[in-house]
Amino acid sequence: MRSFIISACLLVLTGCTGSAYQLPTVDDAALQAMQEDMYANRAPLKMHHRSKSQYEKMLASINNRLVENAQPLCDHAGYVSCLFQTSYNGGDEANAYASEEYKITVYRGLLQYLENDDEIAAVVAHEMGHHLAQHNKEKGENIATGAVVTGVLAAVLVGASSANNPYYTSYNQQQDSAAVQDMMEFGAEMGSISYSKEQEREADLLGAYLLARAGYDLDRAKNTLVVLSKLPGGTDRSRASLTDTHPASAERLVAWEKAIEEVRNNHSKLPYLKEDNAESD
Ligand SMILES: [Zn+2]
Repeated sequence: MRSFIISACLLVLTGCTGSAYQLPTVDDAALQAMQEDMYANRAPLKMHHRSKSQYEKMLASINNRLVENAQPLCDHAGYVSCLFQTSYNGGDEANAYASEEYKITVYRGLLQYLENDDEIAAVVAHEMGHHLAQHNKEKGENIATGAVVTGVLAAVLVGASSANNPYYTSYNQQQDSAAVQDMMEFGAEMGSISYSKEQEREADLLGAYLLARAGYDLDRAKNTLVVLSKLPGGTDRSRASLTDTHPASAERLVAWEKAIEEVRNNHSKLPYLKEDNAESD
């Protein structure tokens, strides 16, 4: 029953958002080739040891270089808070996230697997992409929707099981409203854990444009997605790990390669809006 509720909720959640940009399409042949590639390249992750001050310096210079070149993209997206700030967190979690309107946090636990500035810049630019596309605002709506939808579904199910039941007592009722409350909290969590696949792809696309404008190497940046795909999902399910919030699959890698191609062929270095396509048809 719980899994029915979860999947019903997820269906509703993923239906909540839509991207503003034309996203790269992924065809089956490319997907299969990428899966074979990933299977062939299963070398374990390498660790790089750097000090806190090294990380802080790296992040500050990457943040500044991206911000100095981001303004046309921010204007294009109608995004006013273009003065992004990236901060370092010394925690072990392989994580990074975007918060408020302009903040980005990257954890040591992720940075230690990244080899160079291009790879680290890919993480920062991706989070900037979530900001530019205002995904946290959409996620906020998802959290609220998730809570309400799950609560409503649970209430309906409780209602169905108690209707016309003469043995349904006030104790049962109390238990059931606690269950509904649990479900609402669980629904809120489901909404908060992850961006949709579409949002991930949109953040990647915007990230690719940000990187290209700042002169980072998009081929080297791709390795960040390879690293993400190798990170374990994490066994502590009470906390969302980066692989929950930013799943990296073969699909995402194919889309990244397509995004690189698009960026290289796009002289304006501004992503195509969905309407651009409609006009040209
Ligand atoms: Zn993401």
